[in-house]
Amino acid sequence: MRDTIARLFDYCGVSSVTSKKSIVVTGGAGFIGSALVRHLIAETEARVVTVDRLGYAGSLLNLRDVRDHPRHHFEQVDITNGTALSDVFARHQPTAVMHLAAESHVDRSIDRPADFIQSNLVGTYQVLDCSLRYLATLNAPQAARFRVLHVSTDEVYGSLSLDAPAFREGDAYQPNSPYSASKAGADHLAMAWAHTFGLPVLVTNCTNNYGPYQFPEKLIPVVIMKALAGQPIPIYGRGDNVRDWLHVDDHVRALTLILERGRLAQRYNIGGECEVSNLQLVKQICALLDDLEPSPSGTPYAQLIQFVEDRPGHDLRYAMDISKVRTEFDWQPQHTLVNGLRETVTWYLANRAWCEQVTNNDTVERQGLR
Ligand code: NAD
Repeated sequence: MRDTIARLFDYCGVSSVTSKKSIVVTGGAGFIGSALVRHLIAETEARVVTVDRLGYAGSLLNLRDVRDHPRHHFEQVDITNGTALSDVFARHQPTAVMHLAAESHVDRSIDRPADFIQSNLVGTYQVLDCSLRYLATLNAPQAARFRVLHVSTDEVYGSLSLDAPAFREGDAYQPNSPYSASKAGADHLAMAWAHTFGLPVLVTNCTNNYGPYQFPEKLIPVVIMKALAGQPIPIYGRGDNVRDWLHVDDHVRALTLILERGRLAQRYNIGGECEVSNLQLVKQICALLDDLEPSPSGTPYAQLIQFVEDRPGHDLRYAMDISKVRTEFDWQPQHTLVNGLRETVTWYLANRAWCEQVTNNDTVERQGLR
C-alpha cells in the first residue's frame, strides 16, 4: 500500500521521499552495487535509485530481481556528467548517496589508465560536488541526516609482506597500480570534502569481493569459465599472491550498518578474514568443479592451470584488520570461504546464460587475475 502511494506521488510529480529514506546507489548495475540494491530493497523500506552509465561491467541483467520493484528507480547517467547527476538528486531527493561507480579492474587500468582517472577521480569529484550543492538545498533536519558513503578498496594501502600485520585504518596510503592510485585519490577527495566543506562523508575500504553477478573478468568467474570450456586457467607468476576474500553479501551488510551508524569523516576497513594465495584459491575452485560438474574426460580441472608472466607491480598481499567495524557495529563476516565459494560456483554453473549475455558487449580479452 505504501509503495502504491509512493508511486502515485511520483506519477503526480510530487516528491514523497522527505518522510522516508531515499538512497542513490552509484554503480548499482555492477557486481557489488547490484548486491547492495537487492539488499536495500529486501531489508529496508528505502527507495533506491540506481545510477549507472551501463559500461561494459554494468548490466540491467544484474538487477533483474529488483528492477521493476516499486521502490526501485533506474537512471542511466554517467557520474562524470555533473549536470545530469544534479538533476537526479533534485528529482529523487536522496537522504543518502552510496558511491560505488568506478572502473574496477586492475589489468584494464594498466592498459587504459585514462578511463580510471575519468570515472574514479573526476566521477568522484562530481559525486562530492553535486552532494555538497544538494546539501545546501536541504532544511536543517534533512541536512543533519544526509550521508555520502564512498566505497573503496584495500589496494590503496599498497603491498604487505607475508608476515606483516593486516592494514589498519590509520595506515598510510601507498597505491601501486593506476586502479589503486585512482581509488586512493578519490578517497582523499572524499575526506577533503568532509574536512574542508563539512560534507557528511564516510569512507570504506574492503578486500576482494566474490559472489553472484561478478563480471567474468575477475579471478573466480574467469577460473570457472575457463575450466568449463576446457581452456588453460592462467595464474600470474607462481600464484603466491595472497588476497583476503569477502562475500559480497557480508560486504553490503557492513555498508548498510556503516551508513546508518558510522562516525562522520571516518574510514572503515571491511574484510572476510579468509586469506589464501591465488594458487590455493584456484585449486579450491577446481576441486569444487570436479565435485559439482566433473569434466567429460574425468581429468581434474587443476590440470588446466597454467602459470603466465606476472602482472607489472603485482602487490604480494592485502589483508585488513577489521577490529574497528567489529567493535563499533558488532559486524563480522558470516560466510566462510568454503561455503561461500561452493555457493558461488553453484551460482555460476546455473547462470551460464547470464555470463554469455553480459560478456557479449565486451571485446577485450584479459587474463582476469587481480
Ligand atoms: P563493477 O566493475 O562490477 O561495477 C562498477 C559499476 O560502475 C558498473 O556498473 C559500471 O557501469 C559503473 N560505472 C563505472 N564508471 C561509471 C561512470 N563514469 N558513471 C556511471 N557508472 C559508472 O565493480 P564492483 O566490483 O562492483 O566494484 C564496486 C566498487 O567497489 C568500486 O568502487 C570498486 O573500486 C570497489 N571495490 C571493489 C572490490 C571488488 O573486489 N570487486 C574490492 C574493493 C573495492
